[in-house]
Amino acid sequence: MSPPDSKPTLAAVSAPLVSDIPAPPASRTSLGAKENEFFRAIQDYLDRAAKVINLEPYVRTILSQPKNELIVNFPVKMDSGEVRLFKGYRVQHNNLLGPFKGGIRFHPSVTLDDVKALASMMTWKSALLRLPFGGGKGGIKFDPRSVSKTELQRITRRFTHALGGNIGPDYDIPAPDMGTNAQTMAWMMDTYSNMVGSYQKQSVRGVVTGKPVASGGTLGRSKATGQGIVYCVIEWAEEHGFSLEGSTMIVQGFGNVGSNAAVILSKLGVSTIAVGDHSGYLINPEGFNAHKLQDYVEAHGSIAGYPGGKSITRDEFFATKADIFAPCALENQIGESEARALNVKLVVEGANGPTNPLGERIVLERGIDILPDVLANSGGVTVSYYEWVQNKRSESWTEEEVDERLEKAMKRAYREVSELARSKKCDLRIAAYALALQRLEAVYKERDIFP
Ligand code: NAD
Repeated sequence: MSPPDSKPTLAAVSAPLVSDIPAPPASRTSLGAKENEFFRAIQDYLDRAAKVINLEPYVRTILSQPKNELIVNFPVKMDSGEVRLFKGYRVQHNNLLGPFKGGIRFHPSVTLDDVKALASMMTWKSALLRLPFGGGKGGIKFDPRSVSKTELQRITRRFTHALGGNIGPDYDIPAPDMGTNAQTMAWMMDTYSNMVGSYQKQSVRGVVTGKPVASGGTLGRSKATGQGIVYCVIEWAEEHGFSLEGSTMIVQGFGNVGSNAAVILSKLGVSTIAVGDHSGYLINPEGFNAHKLQDYVEAHGSIAGYPGGKSITRDEFFATKADIFAPCALENQIGESEARALNVKLVVEGANGPTNPLGERIVLERGIDILPDVLANSGGVTVSYYEWVQNKRSESWTEEEVDERLEKAMKRAYREVSELARSKKCDLRIAAYALALQRLEAVYKERDIFP
């Protein structure tokens, strides 16, 4: 099976009209984030973990940069007839263990450096969860809420076409991330399958994961990242003799990850007492009905106007006393002031990179545990793997089967990370990186470097 032959080229597309791309939201820049701060932070973690396990220097060198970085500029006709040029990225960090794998993000703050950071984190997650995947990530710099549904479909399809043969079910497999969902994946799969020719059409469903179930997705994928977070929280609670029943939580970001984590934890007796998203922050000391709030956000696009809570500021949200904080929105949300304000026992990172290095140091010094992103939110890629396997075998697993496998995988990963952290006297993030690096190093040593 050969992939479609349209190859993206650097800034290869020209269009008669260029419209401005919205600026990043204020909350990101308010922490003083420099453009490449996120990628640099990931490289620092890589360096620290490499020291802990005496990683071969050449392995660190290879992993310090992505294998491929693609930028595509592509034109899309908007409903008004105007033609806008969009900038899309796909970064392929590493494919030693299997095809590149990672989400597609639609957000105005998408930058090449952030996508590089996110792609490399996917390499660590796949290795940590023992998945036969490498790491990749992509995105388009725009606000999906600012366009119509028909425009969104044309943007998604044209981006998929621009990526061309640089994605594929055995080469690079996108999935949903912030601003994208199962619908986005259905459009991507349909576009790709129309590019490969009719005799291959049925065999390329695995080009993306996180699809709607009727279009080849798996049961359990939409809640998988939230579910994985919950398995980690359960392990943490057992390890620390902490009772989840009757405990409280605050959640930043009530999209796919945050809302599913809140809904599943509510069944274990954890009450969500404050929430926030791009529209603002709400508090309800009695606890929100997570299910109802999830339905509300699905219908209205944000928590704004939800009747069951009182509006608070971002600062008040971060200072709310609770047991658990689940940041499930953007990177770089917990800086110095947020870290000092937090009044919780545990931060479980649903988002990728929500805690910046200074914030992390303060949080840990204050005795607050952090379940790091590469462990805590890896349930998504794990169930994506289950979807990919089902597509390859033309099978459909039950939700119970998916959940059971995910539970085993997440709890094993948690225990392995926790054990390494204890034996090497390092924090859980560095232990998670170290475990992933050990597995990658073992394969590099066996295979050596071509030629
Ligand atoms: P989503 O688009 O479904 O939800 C994103 C949420 O973040 C929304 O509630 C949005 O309002 C909020 N948000 C956006 N900008 C914000 C701001 N400036 N301040 C506060 N809140 C803001 O996205 P998602 O899939 O839930 O992803 C959330 C995070 O989880 C991302 O960091 C993503 O990389 C990570 N993640 C997602 C998955 C997955 O399977 N979807 C897997 C692993 C990690």
